[in-house]
Amino acid sequence: MSDTNSSRVVYSEAIEDFLKTAYLLQQEQERVPTSVLSEALGITAPSTTEMAKKLAKAKLVLHEPYRGIRLTAAGERVALEIIRNHRLLELFLVQALGYTWDEVHEEAERLEHSISERMAQRIAEYLGDPRYDPHGDPIPDSEGQIPLRDLISLAEWPLGEPGMVARLRDQSSDMLRYLEEKGLVVGAQVRVLNRDPFEGPLTLMVEQQECIVGAGVAQYVFISSSRDSKMS
Ligand SMILES: [Zn+2]
Repeated sequence: MSDTNSSRVVYSEAIEDFLKTAYLLQQEQERVPTSVLSEALGITAPSTTEMAKKLAKAKLVLHEPYRGIRLTAAGERVALEIIRNHRLLELFLVQALGYTWDEVHEEAERLEHSISERMAQRIAEYLGDPRYDPHGDPIPDSEGQIPLRDLISLAEWPLGEPGMVARLRDQSSDMLRYLEEKGLVVGAQVRVLNRDPFEGPLTLMVEQQECIVGAGVAQYVFISSSRDSKMS
């Protein structure tokens, strides 16, 4: 950790990744076990524990042995800034540079650590202050506020009800390419025509096209009812 300018502390890439990953994981659990973090980060358990201790000292995380970690408000601020950078970059790469949505994650992983707050702001302005990235993930604003939505997975979406694809939870390139083939991109209109029992396949109407997807895929596709929660 070092001060590169008077106003703002700059953290190492490893610290930023740690905080970002912990933030994303703690959306699903109150406290994130270090074992879960170490797996997600691809670093050893001892390094994870060591990092957690170091960040606890810097008051970025709360760390109690055997209880996992939770970010402090200061830790969340850092995480949200990196997440904002990441998602803005993904959208910028798609909209301005013509990348496809399955190509942008890796690029954004690298660039998210290197752009300044000023550049992030300029990208946001250039894109018209977007609220969602190409995968439907919400983009925190410059204050770290995130838009909240009630989304339901395609696996549970009511039969016959019109909905709109709002967010994809599995963002591996293979899955994204598959979903795109089926027309299941963010913003697409969708209805579930039939759902076979016992986690069988679903028959969908995606825009004007009928298609079939497995129940396993459906649980990663999140739907919103409002046409007006416009993607930008
Ligand atoms: Zn994304």
